[in-house]
Amino acid sequence: MNKASVLTALKELDFTDYPLQSPAEGEVRLKIAAVSICGSDVHYWHNGRIGSAVAKYPMVLGHEPSGIIESVGAGVKNLSPGMRVAIEPAMPCGLCRMCLIGKSHLCLKIRFLGTPPDDGILMQERNMPAHCCIPLPDNVSLIEGALMEPLGVGLHAARLAAPQIGESAAVFGLGAVGLLTMLSALLAGVDKVYAVDPVKERREMALKLGATAVFDPAGGNAAEWILDNTGGLGTDISFEASGEEEGFINSCLSAGRGGRAVIIGIPEKDYFAMPMHECRRKELAVLHCRRSNREADNAINLISTGRLPIKKLASHIYKFEDTGKALATAHNKSDGVIRAIVLPNNDIKVD
Ligand SMILES: [Zn+2]
Ligand SMILES: [Zn+2]
Repeated sequence: MNKASVLTALKELDFTDYPLQSPAEGEVRLKIAAVSICGSDVHYWHNGRIGSAVAKYPMVLGHEPSGIIESVGAGVKNLSPGMRVAIEPAMPCGLCRMCLIGKSHLCLKIRFLGTPPDDGILMQERNMPAHCCIPLPDNVSLIEGALMEPLGVGLHAARLAAPQIGESAAVFGLGAVGLLTMLSALLAGVDKVYAVDPVKERREMALKLGATAVFDPAGGNAAEWILDNTGGLGTDISFEASGEEEGFINSCLSAGRGGRAVIIGIPEKDYFAMPMHECRRKELAVLHCRRSNREADNAINLISTGRLPIKKLASHIYKFEDTGKALATAHNKSDGVIRAIVLPNNDIKVD
């Protein structure tokens, strides 16, 4: 029996049988090892929607998995049973204008795991297109494989900012995506990073991973703190990864003249206020980050080099039956959580 964790109403999960066909041509059957819980999963669980994308019950969440190949369908060449893989959750059409110009993450017909109408991967087994599977090198664990997708977002976000050697950056929101963006920016040559989050454990992790200084927004205004730390100039880049309006406004206010603000966090609200005069006077480029664009191989290679200590971000590991707890902890940012990971099968060694 293949059990899935099925969202049946707001914050209601049922563990029910999820029948599977044998893998079709070009597909593989995967046994799911680890699923990292994303802010977007939390939004569907807690609010039932992200903007105009509305949950239709029953649905299965989860789009950041690693797994082991169980069997392969006809025509699958480079994958075989027993292989450990990370899974790219995006399934672009490959034919539309955006796909053809190399921006398949903006595909007009994109399908994405755990985004209506496609079921996600918080289940024990699932069929996936073979092209979504990225084999893991021996030195990359299945837990790290489950962090491939958020690392891809961090790499994409950093790339959007076009960081130059020696530049400075601010990061608002130090969950996994904020921290992975920070690591990516440091790797790209950013020198000083000012990092902001209300959760103590997240600030401590940011310092361990290379932040120059951290700030608890309970203690004052984060934008003012960054301006004070940069001689009033602000940072070259600001990354907004909290999904909060306050983080957005502060990312606009703390970026310097001619700076770039990259907006990554997914808000609950549909509209944010923007400090128009500040943004205009300094000709701030406000860039939005949508998931990632073909970063999967790159992410796995970087993990394999050991230069990105991403395993540290997997702070909370949950059994499959505790998927609800994982979502609640991620939503409440409680217990010092950085990234919650669910293990749908107890018998797979993940680290
Ligand atoms: Zn995600
Ligand atoms: Zn397309």
